[in-house]
Amino acid sequence: MTNEFNNRQRLPQWMKMEMPKGKNYSKVKNLVEKHKLHTICKSGNCPNIGDCWNRGTATFMILGDICTRQCKFCAVKSGQPLQPDFEEPEKIAESIKIMGLKHCVITSVSRDDLDDQGAKIWACTIREIKRINPETKIEALIPDFRGNTELIQQIIDTKPEVISHNIETVERLSTNYRRSLDVIKYISCSHNITKSGIMLGLGETHHEILQTMDDLLRAGCKVITIGQYLAATVKHMPVAEYIKPEKFMEYRLIGLEKGFKFVESSPLVRSSYRAEQHTNA
Ligand code: SF4
Repeated sequence: MTNEFNNRQRLPQWMKMEMPKGKNYSKVKNLVEKHKLHTICKSGNCPNIGDCWNRGTATFMILGDICTRQCKFCAVKSGQPLQPDFEEPEKIAESIKIMGLKHCVITSVSRDDLDDQGAKIWACTIREIKRINPETKIEALIPDFRGNTELIQQIIDTKPEVISHNIETVERLSTNYRRSLDVIKYISCSHNITKSGIMLGLGETHHEILQTMDDLLRAGCKVITIGQYLAATVKHMPVAEYIKPEKFMEYRLIGLEKGFKFVESSPLVRSSYRAEQHTNA
């Protein structure tokens, strides 16, 4: 019996998902495999994969599937990434066309190994999507680019409808909390819709969650996603607590009262879940 299996066995009832299946799920899966695309849906072991892929939506992960960082709560592989694929922008844009997506989310691993940390491919990808799919709305879920505002500006200049950067957790449990806040602040100064996300169940307190909401609002963030953290393997940070659905509902109401335009808060929410709604924030 593997540890992963044990982890799954311990999941509370509200976190249990059915095996993904369905006609559209198979269609998206085949497309993703055929074009050798990376999705955070798969690389991040997202529990919504059946639901989202059946609705014909997916979050594309550009610049490969190996991250140069080793965040202890992230499910994406880390190590030495491969060289960037300069045909990737076109492949992603063509796939979005074949899938007929009206909204797409693009994200990437952190590429600290590259001089521009991948900003050029990021900008090319968004421009190519817009060129081939002029009606498609785009959310760019960006890494922190080590806080380099010149690189972040390259993404802003491509004018995606939403730019998001996840703060991930509360300040006490984070290694880059202030830098992420600065990134969000920079985006919000020059862009209408700024979004962020946090995971609960890492050992944070109620007060720390409210403080994080306040910090994000002060930085200009308009949309927040709140979901349950899941440990991808036994080497990852263990789950400290499975937060009950009622508590997520409470955070949704608190967030709206505090001033967020959208608060997506439930155990299975991930940053790109039902992202198409957030272009109206
Ligand atoms: S929530 Fe986002 S990452 Fe998860 S399956 Fe849906 S689109 Fe993919």
